Amino acid sequence: MREKPLAGQAALVTGANSGIGEAVARCFADAGAKVAINWVAHEEATNAIVEDIKKRGGEAIGVRADVSNEAEVQAMYAAAIRAFGTVDILCANAGLQDDAPFTEMTLQKWNHVITVNLTGQFLCAREAAREFIRRGPRPEVSKAAGKIICMSSVHQEIPWAGHANYATSKGGVRMLMQTMAQELAPHKIRVNAIAPGAIQTPINRSAWDTPQALRSLMTLIPDQRIGQPDDIGRAAVWLASDDSDYVQGTTLFVDGGMTLFPGFATGG
Ligand code: NAD
Repeated sequence: MREKPLAGQAALVTGANSGIGEAVARCFADAGAKVAINWVAHEEATNAIVEDIKKRGGEAIGVRADVSNEAEVQAMYAAAIRAFGTVDILCANAGLQDDAPFTEMTLQKWNHVITVNLTGQFLCAREAAREFIRRGPRPEVSKAAGKIICMSSVHQEIPWAGHANYATSKGGVRMLMQTMAQELAPHKIRVNAIAPGAIQTPINRSAWDTPQALRSLMTLIPDQRIGQPDDIGRAAVWLASDDSDYVQGTTLFVDGGMTLFPGFATGG
């Protein structure tokens, strides 16, 4: 891979002041992209990341928006385009969990997760596609007219008791991603997804913050380690770069083998 595969490009990463989004934003900046760091809470964390990227010689801004709010998403794109001239790469990463046993899942919990994880990706990807089509290709920086990376999950495949809203949102992200890829390919827009396994971030703290929890988690991971946000950041750089120019409508699983049915490793 070239040293700065994203040089001259502008990227927007949602939910980028924590966990996976932060790693993607930092890896994009290290790869030469100017980065708009979307946040909805904890402005101070956003400012620290922006300052850090600048200290390393990169360009970054913070842009506040709730990804499930159409007007705020549109204002966020306007701010990023004002700052950087355009947006070349979207990583639609913002997401959350709001778990409950199925019979106790309220409509409020259902809507909370679906509107952020699925509708939020729709709204952000739609604005990205509009900007890519309006602007057209920039062959001096990339073969594609734009790249969209949807942050999905192994739970786009693996059913997850107690998390019906979350698993459904990620199943929806898979189909949204594939449909966008099919529809937008003629515009030279590439759309792909990353499906992380268990990555050590605040979203799943209870799965790794005690030795017992970590031991139990390892029974689900053939590689026998919890993933780190950078594992996803590096994959995102590749999917955003011309090195993956012929990759379209694909989900890249970055999961230490979690989707390999580890329960069958000893013959089932
Ligand atoms: P995280 O909690 O560290 O980060 C989530 C980010 O999304 C935060 O910055 C949060 O403020 C932001 N966010 C939440 N609601 C938002 C909204 N309405 N508008 C804008 N931003 C909002 O968790 P993470 O693990 O880094 O998760 C990032 C993505 O990765 C999520 O989509 C999650 O589903 C996915 N994922 C995580 C794992 C994992 O093991 N950590 C596994 C699979 C998929």
